[in-house]
Order: sequence, then structure tokens, then C-alpha cells
Amino acid sequence: MDFDIENPDQMDVEELVPNPIHREPPRIHRLDEAVVNRIAAGEVIQRPVSAVKELLENSIDADSSSISVLVKDGGLKLIQVSDDGHGIRYEDLSILCERHTTSKLSKFEDLLSIKSMGFRGEALASMTYVGHVTVTTITKGQLHGYRATYKDGVMEHEPKACAAVKGTQIMIENLFYNMSARRKTLQNSADDYPKIVDLICRFAIHHISVNFSCRKHGAARADVHSVATTSRLDTIRSVYGVSVAQNLMEIEVSEDDPSSSIFEMDGFISNSNYIAKKITMVLFINDRLVECGALKRAIEIVYAATLPKASKPFIYMSIKLPPEHIDVNVHPTKREVSLLNQEVIVEKIQSAIESKLRNSNESRTFQEQRVDPSPSVSISMSKGSSSHSSSSGSKSQKVPVQKMVRTDSQDPAGRLHGYLQVKPSSQLQGSSRLASIRSAIRQRRNPRETADLTSIQELIREIDSSCHSELLDIVRNCSYIGMADDVFALLQHNTHLYLANVVNLSKELMYQQVLRRFAHFSAIQLSDPAPLPELIMLALKEEELNTEGDENNDLKEKIAEMNTEMIKQKAEMLEEYFGIHIDPNGNLSRLPIVLDQYTPDMDRVPEFVLCLGNDVNWDDEKICFQTIAAAIGNFYALHPPLLPNPSGDGMQFYQRVPSRTPEEGDASKSADDVNKDEVEHELLLEAENAWAQREWSIQHVLFPSMRLFLKPPTSMAANGTFVKVASLEKLYKIFERC
Ligand code: ADP
Ligand code: MG
Repeated sequence: MDFDIENPDQMDVEELVPNPIHREPPRIHRLDEAVVNRIAAGEVIQRPVSAVKELLENSIDADSSSISVLVKDGGLKLIQVSDDGHGIRYEDLSILCERHTTSKLSKFEDLLSIKSMGFRGEALASMTYVGHVTVTTITKGQLHGYRATYKDGVMEHEPKACAAVKGTQIMIENLFYNMSARRKTLQNSADDYPKIVDLICRFAIHHISVNFSCRKHGAARADVHSVATTSRLDTIRSVYGVSVAQNLMEIEVSEDDPSSSIFEMDGFISNSNYIAKKITMVLFINDRLVECGALKRAIEIVYAATLPKASKPFIYMSIKLPPEHIDVNVHPTKREVSLLNQEVIVEKIQSAIESKLRNSNESRTFQEQRVDPSPSVSISMSKGSSSHSSSSGSKSQKVPVQKMVRTDSQDPAGRLHGYLQVKPSSQLQGSSRLASIRSAIRQRRNPRETADLTSIQELIREIDSSCHSELLDIVRNCSYIGMADDVFALLQHNTHLYLANVVNLSKELMYQQVLRRFAHFSAIQLSDPAPLPELIMLALKEEELNTEGDENNDLKEKIAEMNTEMIKQKAEMLEEYFGIHIDPNGNLSRLPIVLDQYTPDMDRVPEFVLCLGNDVNWDDEKICFQTIAAAIGNFYALHPPLLPNPSGDGMQFYQRVPSRTPEEGDASKSADDVNKDEVEHELLLEAENAWAQREWSIQHVLFPSMRLFLKPPTSMAANGTFVKVASLEKLYKIFERC
């Protein structure tokens, strides 16, 4: 029997309407197992966003550092979550989607101490009862990955070998295809995409060392895009916008008294300047995104009592408890938790918030005067805020989440970069804001003025006229497979495989974008302005290492001084046309955003500054712009990081030689000296991050942007940038013959 479990209309009507004449007790029968499973699955996966949450948790449990989500039709057609985690073993694929198969729990006691996020082995199984599930995965050291499809808890056929990039990709298609009532309800209601975006924003501000992105199928750019960082405030700024981040206060409470409660809490809470229609409460308990109604109500009460005009706060809170003190199993989707000693904890947090708000409220008078002139403010103050109508400030509006994520290319502060930290000093904030207003006004007043310079137009025309049409077709329509080595990416286009030099390609893309954005750059603010002479000295010393020359220090200082002077003279032009800001003291403090969502490798700043001094021809306008654009292009290109790649031969670099004294140097290093256990961990970590970050940018920023903007010049057809490595048709023929 295969009726729709949610739609009683389809059931046998006689069974539902009791017959008053010969009334016999209705027969009890066992429901079909598939129906039982579908009911259970429908509870775990209530809507598309719940599937996304389970998949994200699995990816985080797999130690991923990058997770990207693709959604079609609000998740009903397609949800695809790709991560770069440890992958799934081939042997485990056959039972992966059976109910209660998990790698995280083996006995009941484990439930009490489990630290990872999901643990009941139900999520994936559930998805197979209500959608079509395809898993592609590769584990470390494997040459290829495997792909398997699942239905009703079972794998449909042997896993097929396939090409795969590091990690796991799980695809759920046609969710609720067999629950027509639910599908209809979901189709009628506003779709789940905003909910999914909201969910990912929440994950992003907690797991700040993970890159998250989320995109609608067919859309060119991501709606959420967070880059791993060490500053939570930076991530909040990038995800929720500067107007949220600038109105937050840090808060911490802890208690270590076994007789009442043991917990640690840290987080950010909004101040009196943050006015919104709804409370935003992002709560993680033991790294799990949950809801706790009691705590939320307690916080709402404090705000209403202390800051009536700002009574709908933004709260991010992370609470750590001994795992045995929480029960996450009260709810099938593990959303609502209950805590041991809940009242005590809630009360402690409540009073900490209250005193924080009272203290900040005393210094509030001047804050209220401040009008934020930034053009990208996403929260407007209530018009009635000058009158004393206490809580009627609901005219104020909060911009929906999908508008608060970084989508505005004119908003320098609304984006996050690993290196970028807008300085907290109010002075600097003031001046950079002023600069951004100025440039916004300039753009509005005369948007085409500067781009009308004939020299720039000529350079852009040259790009267009030397564009190679076949390469353009490849760039637009290829799929990125992965990096073949440090420089070449493997691409598939129709039935051909190509190796493409990402350094050359990115250099050219950046060059072209500099010319297209000429005089209209948003800014990357450097957290520490860097003095030009020091940068140039660094670059000169680096150069000397490479060429083994030995110019003396005095000479180098002289060169540095002269170059600094020259660049300072050109500062106004560099700022106005290229967004490179050099302050009157000769410090480099801002760089242009050439490609949205991308910051260059800051290790290359010295080389870049030296290039400005040495390689730019300042005499002829057109050549000057061209050489500056080329210098920026070279700086922003996706070069291999300066630290050697630890996953290749470069690993040696990080192994310590135990008995080495500084004088002995590298020459004395023999294989025996290397103690394999002694590794420069911090350096190694830094290198791993740099390489992972670069690979992520290549896949998620470079290739999508090239598809949109790059016009490959004819020279690329012959200079080794593209190399055809195989024709799949020929390979198939060879396989057929075998
Ligand atoms: P649970 O997470 O509760 O263990 P799930 O059904 O969500 O149950 O997942 C089952 C198992 O599949 C997990 O325990 C894990 O071993 C494996 N798994 C799921 N997703 C991934 C992933 N993205 N990367 C690696 N392993 C995964
Ligand atoms: Mg799970």
C-alpha cells in the first residue's frame, strides 16, 4: 500500500467514518515498513533547511575547512553540500545510509559524552527515505573517489569510481518527492532559501575557522561567503554587516561550582544603538546550534527593561558545559535542548547581560547623537527616536538577512578578508568612512568621468580586440576538476581535458579588472599601515637572497628612500585612480578590491611596492596606467604561497633538525639529522592554511570570476597557459578496446 501518509484524503474513506449500524472495532494492522520509515524521516528532516543543517554538521564533524552549499528551488529540487573533510571510507559506503549507522557512537554511554555534533546515525538515512541521495567522496591517499546513490536506506548499486576533489559531496535531489502534501505546502510557502542563508550565517559566525559559502543554483555569486579568520567580530561584520558589528559588546561569564552549576559562556550582545524588529539569537551549546526558549525569554526581558528602544537585540552566544549536563535528545532534530541546572545558568547569564547593558547605557548620550553616514547602513534608526515614545520604535526596520550578507561591492567594510581588520580606533574609522563617502559621492556625481580617459578606453579596447574566441569558450564553459600541481589546474571542456596555468590566468584577470574598475575601487583597509621604506628594504633583501648579490645596506637604504619619495609624489593619483592609499607619513594603508571576496597574499606587499618604484613608467599616461595595472595584477595573482607546500616535497622544510646550531646552516642537514617527529607546528599550520585558502579561492573565486570577466588574450593560446592533455573520446575508445 502506498498512500500519502500526510494526506488522509487518499485513505479509504470507509475506514475513517465509523458505520453507526454494525459497529465493530477497527482492525489494527502493521504499517508498511517503508511508510514507518518515511514518517520517521519526515520528523528528522522537516524541511529543506533541516537537511542542510544535518549536512553542515556532518561536514564540520569531518574536520572540513571549507564547506559550500548549492540550492535549487528552495532545496526541493537540489541541495548539494561539498566539503574538504576526511571523506568516507569505501568499505563504509554500503551501510552509510542505513538507519543508526554512525561513526560517532557505539554504546549508550557515548551519548552522554559525545562531542561531535550529530550522533544518532539518522540524518543521512532519513534523507534517503524522502529524497534521492548521491554521495561522492574521496579519502586521503586515494587516487580517485567513489560515487554511490541511495534509496530507502540502501545503496542502489556498487560505488562507481570517479574523479573527486578532497572531501565529500552530498547531493539531495527531489526532496519530499514521495510526500506530496508536504511538498505542496513547502512550494506554496515562501521558499526555504532565506532560511538556509540564515542558517549558514549562523554557522559561519560560530565556526570562524571554516570557510562557508552558499549559492542559489544558476547564480553567479554567493549570497553568503565567509572566509576563515581568527576574529569573530570580523566574521560577524562580514556576514551580518558593519552596522551590526559596530554595535556589539563582548560578554563573558563562567561558573565552576559543582554544587550549583559549571559552565562557560562567551559572546557578543548588541547595545542601545542597535534597533531591529526581531530578536536575532544565535546560540551554540557545546558547539551545536540549538534553541533554548528559557534563555531567549530571559534575555528579551532584560533588554525590554533596560533598553526599551532597543529591545530586540542581536545575540551571539556560545556556552560550554560538561557534556553530561545537557540532553540534546529531547527533540528529534536536536534543536531544543534542556540543561542541568538550567535556571541557575539562565539567571547568571541574565544578570551579566543586565549589568553590561546598564554600564554601557551610561555612556549612551553621545552615541545617540552619532549619525552613521555610511551609505551601506542596513539598519535605519527609528524616526520617532527623538520623542520619548518608549517601545513604539517599531517603525525602524531590519534589513532581511539575505540583504545583510555581503553583496554590495561599494561597501568596503561589509566584507571580510583574512587580513583585513578595520581598526577599532574611532579616529581611523571616522576618516575611512569619510573617504568612502567621498568616493561614493564622486561616483554618483560623475560616474563616467574618469573611465572616459581615452588612455583607459584604449587599454580596454585592446583587451577586447585581442580576445581569443576559442579560449573564451573554454573559460566560460569549462568545469574545474582540481589542482594538478602548484600552478596548473585541471579543467574539462566538452570532451577535452586541459591543464591551465592559474598564475598566468589570475594575473591577466586581475590586470583586466583593475582597468575596468579604474577609479571605482572599494577599499581593503590594512590593520597596520606599513611604512614604505621598510617594505622596500624587505623586498630588496629578498631580491638579494634570490640573486645572491651583496649590495650594501647603505645603498639599499638610499634606493628605498628615493623610491618612497617618488611614490609619495604620486600618492594622489594612486589613491584616486587605483585605490592605493599612502598616508602623508609614507605608510601604505589601503589597497583596492580588484575582485570581490578576494584579498591578495599580504606577503607580497613588499615586492609590489618595489615594483611600483622600479617597473612603472610614470611619463606616458597610457603606459603608466598599463604598468600600474600590471603591477597590481602581478601582486593579486594567485601565486603559490611563499611557504613551501607541506603536502608535497615541501614537508622537509618544516622538519626540525635537532642538533643544529644556527651557524651550521642548512648545508649540514642530512637525512639522518631530521627527526621526523620534530615539526615546526606553527609554521606548518600556517602553510597548510595558506595552501588550503589558495585552493579554495581558485575554485570559488578565480574560476567563477574568470567565467564572468576574463577575456583571454590570443597570446595565451601559444604560451603554455593552456595545455590540452587528453581527449576523453580517444580515452573511451582505448578503454573499449581493452
Ligand atoms: P551521524 O552524524 O549522527 O553519525 P549521519 O547519518 O548524519 O549520522 O551520518 C552517518 C555517518 O556518515 C557519520 O557518522 C559519518 O561517519 C559519515 N559522514 C556523513 N557525512 C560525512 C561527511 N561529510 N564527511 C565524512 N563523513 C561523513
Ligand atoms: Mg549527522
